Amino acid sequence: MAIQNKSLEKWKAEFPLLTDLIQLKEVLWINPNKVEDSSISKLSIEDILEAEALLKRFAPYFKKVFPETNGIIESPISKINTMKAKLEKEYDTQIHGRLLLKRDDRLPIAGSIKARGGIYEVIKHAEKLALGHAILKKDDDYAILADKKFTEFFSAFHIKVGSTGNLGLSIGIMSAKLGFNVTVHMSSDAKQWKKDLLRQRGVNVVEHKADYSVAVEQGRNECEKKLTCHFIDDENSKDLFMGYAVAALRLKKQLDEMKIKVDSENPLSVYLPCGVGGGPGGIAFGLHHVFGEHVHCYFAEPTHSPSMLLGLMTGQHEKVSVQDFGIDNLTAPDGLAVGRASGFVGREIESIIDGVYTVDDQQLYDMLRWVYNTERIKLEPSALAGMIGPVVTRKHKGGTHLVWATGGKLVPQEVWIEDYLKGSQ
Ligand SMILES: *Cc1c(COP(=O)(O)O)cnc(C)c1O
Repeated sequence: MAIQNKSLEKWKAEFPLLTDLIQLKEVLWINPNKVEDSSISKLSIEDILEAEALLKRFAPYFKKVFPETNGIIESPISKINTMKAKLEKEYDTQIHGRLLLKRDDRLPIAGSIKARGGIYEVIKHAEKLALGHAILKKDDDYAILADKKFTEFFSAFHIKVGSTGNLGLSIGIMSAKLGFNVTVHMSSDAKQWKKDLLRQRGVNVVEHKADYSVAVEQGRNECEKKLTCHFIDDENSKDLFMGYAVAALRLKKQLDEMKIKVDSENPLSVYLPCGVGGGPGGIAFGLHHVFGEHVHCYFAEPTHSPSMLLGLMTGQHEKVSVQDFGIDNLTAPDGLAVGRASGFVGREIESIIDGVYTVDDQQLYDMLRWVYNTERIKLEPSALAGMIGPVVTRKHKGGTHLVWATGGKLVPQEVWIEDYLKGSQ
């Protein structure tokens, strides 16, 4: 059986790492295509600044309808020294430099990294509609969008999305708040509580027995040819990507405020859990623009779903899936259960990221338990994939290691405890 016209044996001969990957071993792939000066992207710093400006226009609206945001959807950074000591002890190693945790698990509204891209795309679409119908001007106070006149206006429009869970939460909550008619197609991996929560907020939830790619396809098909329907395309959306990229501007400011330098002697190493790629890809793209050669981004995937690693290593991007290589895409961290990565994202980041590693599900549960025991931080399994990064990569001695924690706040206590108990002491 050939994969893209090549036998599995040929693929393995060309990429020896494939053998371990197929056997579900934890691997580290170092990107041979990284170039220091990569200016091939069609997207630029202006796109990121434009996204940041749009988010600013919506600040009064966020403040009004989601008072806990105070107008800005951003997360804090935590120093996790006790966890650092625990990792060093468990893995019998030393992590040089400081270890920080980016707390996207605390992001308002959606409680995950999806609050960045998802919300940005929804509000961008809302603004376009309202400006186009001349019921809003860019210099208005956007708090008026909470008025009945606007929610009634938006109710004539549909938004659809396919998701393993968290993107659905983010898109669903934001769209329903604005008044849109919103449908979320959930893959088989999606957790029950996420579907329940969305239904409570008035979101249509369609459950699929198949995985993520099928849920996305279904949403895409339903939206096609309908002028009033906007499909949020997790696999190809530039808007989602830019919403994530804004994180880089914010991070620069936060590190400045913490008086943390990023330069050749103090590199910044960032470890990002990866599903379809938009979240980590957008952030890596932004970081590359802000910190240039001094930032090193690694993506982290489950051993059962190494889709971005496969796409990048083979150069085949969305043309290959993990299933093509006999890998099952069955994994506990639902946010990362993606068998086919985004080709759009893969091509944007193939020359800027340092590498991708895989991590076993049990390690995620272990670290979920440790980070609670040591720091009293509650994360969901997907959010732990970056945690082992400084141990696995071992390349950048010193400087700052930033682990991107990607979700956790909305997880119900009883669900979280089940995961906690799966981890070892
Ligand atoms: C979606 C998600 C990711 C990965 O983001 P992608 O854009 O799918 O790569 C990581 N962690 C959590 C908790 C997520 O929900």
